[in-house]
Amino acid sequence: MADFKHDQYRKLFDQSADAMLIIDDGRFVDFNDATLKMLGYSCRQELFSTHPSQLSPPNQPDGRSSFEKADEMIAIAFEKGSHRFEWIHRRADGSDFPVEVLLTPVPYENRMLLNVVWRDITQRKKAEEALRLAKYVTDNTSEGVIVCDTTPKIIEINPAYSEIMGYSRDEILGQNPGFTNSGRHDKSFFSDMWREITSTGKWEGEIWDRRKNGEVFPKFLRINAVYNDLNKPIYYVGVFSDITRIKEAEDKLSELAFSDPLTKLPNRALFHERLEQEILGCERRKSKIAVLFLDLDRFKDINDTLGHASGDSLLIAVAKQIRSSVRAVDTVARMGGDEFTVIISDVKDESVVADIANHIIKSVNKVVNVEGKEIIARASVGISYYPKDGENVDDLMRHADMAMYKAKENGGDSFSFYSEEMNIESARRLLLESEMRHGIENKHFIPYFQPIMDLDSGTIVGMEALARWDHPGNGIVLPGEFIPLAEDNGYIIPIGREVLRESCRQARQWQLSSSIPLKVSVNLSGRQIKSLDLRKDIETSLYESGLSPDCLTLEITESMMMGNVDAAIKLFGDLRNAGLKIAIDDFGTGYSSLSQLKRFPVNSLKIDQSFVRDIQADNSSRTIIQTIISMANSMGLEVVAEGVETHEQLDFLKNQGCRYVQGFYFSRPMPGDIFEKTINQEAFHPANYIH
Ligand code: C2E
Ligand code: MG
Ligand code: MG
Repeated sequence: MADFKHDQYRKLFDQSADAMLIIDDGRFVDFNDATLKMLGYSCRQELFSTHPSQLSPPNQPDGRSSFEKADEMIAIAFEKGSHRFEWIHRRADGSDFPVEVLLTPVPYENRMLLNVVWRDITQRKKAEEALRLAKYVTDNTSEGVIVCDTTPKIIEINPAYSEIMGYSRDEILGQNPGFTNSGRHDKSFFSDMWREITSTGKWEGEIWDRRKNGEVFPKFLRINAVYNDLNKPIYYVGVFSDITRIKEAEDKLSELAFSDPLTKLPNRALFHERLEQEILGCERRKSKIAVLFLDLDRFKDINDTLGHASGDSLLIAVAKQIRSSVRAVDTVARMGGDEFTVIISDVKDESVVADIANHIIKSVNKVVNVEGKEIIARASVGISYYPKDGENVDDLMRHADMAMYKAKENGGDSFSFYSEEMNIESARRLLLESEMRHGIENKHFIPYFQPIMDLDSGTIVGMEALARWDHPGNGIVLPGEFIPLAEDNGYIIPIGREVLRESCRQARQWQLSSSIPLKVSVNLSGRQIKSLDLRKDIETSLYESGLSPDCLTLEITESMMMGNVDAAIKLFGDLRNAGLKIAIDDFGTGYSSLSQLKRFPVNSLKIDQSFVRDIQADNSSRTIIQTIISMANSMGLEVVAEGVETHEQLDFLKNQGCRYVQGFYFSRPMPGDIFEKTINQEAFHPANYIH
């Protein structure tokens, strides 16, 4: 065995950090301290003359036996002049570790030795494995990955990137990352992004990008900076996912939450949000906003008469008309029912808003064909302005709503601007409402009675009950003052019930005291007719008073009949079969014709007082009265003329063959006690009025 101790190379050999060994004839014959350390042996003897396979696991990773493979490596080294390969060695403690082996044949005294260098590659292997794993992950993830240098240039992408973006690796490497910019974000978006990456090392958010096919799509992008040892950024890694689907689902959801399913217009919630935004924008721009509140006139009648499906079709048509009457930037929303709202932003001139309101009303007026029937919708519009009429959404809406009511009160099919007085008016209504409640509880609603005279017999035959509110502070309040409100808030039901009951009671009492078979007429409102309590209330009143049903006449108007024809025919048919009488009040002002009346179970017509009033002045009023009387006679209907104030009017009516009359000429409506006294006076006799 050669002695190297005096050789200066011996030092290199001994002190090398890499393990160095000498192989002679297939066995280790020398090795340095690094070798011992690497293998974890303390005694040189243990290694001496070992075959490489003895310091290895039985097999190498490729499955071959270490013994055979070691000899093969040695043979290759001799053949090629040197050989570098990877090997698994085994430590004294039985644990394995990877090394890179370099075998170099060295001639020595007529034979060939092998110089062996082992380098522990555990760390390198680990890094390689981690890299392989990382590559595996990026290759197989569905998220797109993009790596840029600081130029910035794209230096790596993964397959998912290509799949999402449509660019192959060759097409995209070397490009600036802005290459796929969608153009949807302004400069400040990107400068903000880079500012954040520079200061925090990362950014994440939603961004619109462009695929190779030009399609712009949303992605969720996360960017991280990668730093070198000097803490300088060297790479930027972006990981993103295509969130088109998520966005679509989100949009769908918000569409559901924010749009009206029937008309597809924004709903109340979205309207609120938009108006709030507009108000904020307005504060900045110092401009005005108009809020329009639109309600269809008599939509309930249309719904009741033609059915809900037709009502829905009409609403859809109206929604379209409104939408096309305003600019695209203006919001049109449906609040529910037949209520729509419009936001007109950036209003410079209030007259423009009046034009728009007019335009909307006109366009709603267009005839729409709903399931074969032609309907003309009519709308009332109320308008409020920001900031004049309210500084928040609620005030603006409330005030536009009030103005809409005003337009309705004025007959509908028109618009009205909000004014301060409306607020006062609505406060007054509120007060009136609470007083009304109090009045109902305390029986302050009572009937007055106006005689109805029979011109043939020359006697009083009955009386019309007319409601009065005996208000503790204001005295007697007339129906014109409280009936519309009571119909609105439903108080007409208890008021009507009380009037009916008291009228029946009084009528029966006077029949007994005067021995005249007096008949009483009671007015009904549309609300009462729709109420399920009506039949029961009538029965109770008759039963309690003992009044015979044929002494009770119910006065209804033409529109109540026409609102829901079939239901009306049934209800009044039943009542008439029970013996009651039905009179059409204010006849001639509604839209029913005499021929239509044949279908209805009616006993008498009351000629509206407006015609009677104009008998002298107006030829056409006289003609109308004549026509009504002659046709009613031929149909077997009785006629009552109301509002007779003068002798001339009475004469005319009498000459036309009108049998019954009612009016101030004979008597004003009177409270019960006075009425009783009056009818018992000998003087109260039409003969005394008629020459
Ligand atoms: P109406 O049923 O047509 O009643 C006739 C109205 O004409 C009454 O007004 C009556 O006072 C008034 N009148 C009678 N004769 C004359 C006259 O010669 N000249 C003039 N200018 N007016 C005359 P009132 O009592 O103010 O009632 C107004 C309306 O209120 C009634 O019209 C009726 O539609 C309604 N109404 C009254 N009481 C009730 C009720 O108990 N229930 C319901 N639902 N409506 C009622
Ligand atoms: Mg009446
Ligand atoms: Mg009338």
